[in-house]
Amino acid sequence: MMKVAFIGLGDIGSLIAAHLTRDPFDLTVWNRTVSRAEKFVASHRARVAASPSDAVKDAQVVVTCLPSSVEVEAVLHGEGGMLQSLKKGAVLIDCTSGDPPTSRSIAAELGGRGVEFIDAPVSGGTTAAKAGALTVMWGGEITVFERVKSVIEAFGKKIIHAGPVGAGDALKAVNNALLAVHILSTAEGLAVLVKAGVDPKVALDVINASSGRSNSSENLIPQRVLTRAFPRTFRLALLDKDIGIASVLADDLGVKTPIISLTAERFHAAREMLGEDVDHVEAVRIIEQENGVEIK
Ligand code: NDP
Repeated sequence: MMKVAFIGLGDIGSLIAAHLTRDPFDLTVWNRTVSRAEKFVASHRARVAASPSDAVKDAQVVVTCLPSSVEVEAVLHGEGGMLQSLKKGAVLIDCTSGDPPTSRSIAAELGGRGVEFIDAPVSGGTTAAKAGALTVMWGGEITVFERVKSVIEAFGKKIIHAGPVGAGDALKAVNNALLAVHILSTAEGLAVLVKAGVDPKVALDVINASSGRSNSSENLIPQRVLTRAFPRTFRLALLDKDIGIASVLADDLGVKTPIISLTAERFHAAREMLGEDVDHVEAVRIIEQENGVEIK
């Protein structure tokens, strides 16, 4: 059996962790809100740890899935943190959509203690997570990946080496910036069409058979906006954080990205207006409110 510790049983973390509760994995979980960990072990084969340090004390592999790299740092260094007991030879797979500089600094710190690190953010959302079919973009050494491949394969389907540590985070941030651009641009276009008297269902039927289509026009807006269902699968606050990572990366590299910058501003505004708990697709509400239309 491979001893695995999982830290962070959130919307997607809990679905990823569920794939590690079967042979050959022996899973220990920790979650900041204990009731969430207790709920998880009520229906899965796993043990609840008392702290991050307790969770990782015997682990060969540790998986973290937290909002951002800030929280990964916190569970490493904070009280009862993982650094107190991570064993030499262990590997930390960080499935957080993190930021490249922090991942590189964590990798360097852990490397000094004989612990390996790869950043391994995921995409595909909660549907792919449930099916064990996430896309995983990882950054790090191939020799390290080979040692933990079976863990990643338990929840990933398309598993791609993005480059050195931090490259997975960079790729994920840019992907999500594109997602954000598509949500807002599609909603803007539909707001125009609603005002022009075109039924948005008809508009999407045409757009989805034409060159303006995207995952937003094909799936997110028909399933979540037109229906007014707005299910929460991925918090708007997390997507706002991802666009921020992409913007900082662009600035650091001296790449001009006015469209991503404007999208970042719009998502900050949406987050301020709608709060921390709503789904990312609810960002369309700022366009609806500003223009006095409902896309339905
Ligand atoms: P959630 O917000 O649902 O869950 C966050 C998790 O982090 C919870 O377990 C939460 O614990 C824990 N946490 C938050 N703050 C702290 C802290 N200070 N110390 C310790 N634990 C903390 O996030 P998701 O599961 O949706 O996302 C996790 C990561 O995966 C993010 O980086 C996100 O961008 C990425 N992602 C999410 C996708 C999705 O569809 N949801 C898709 C692809 C990537 P508590 O229960 O106590 O709040």
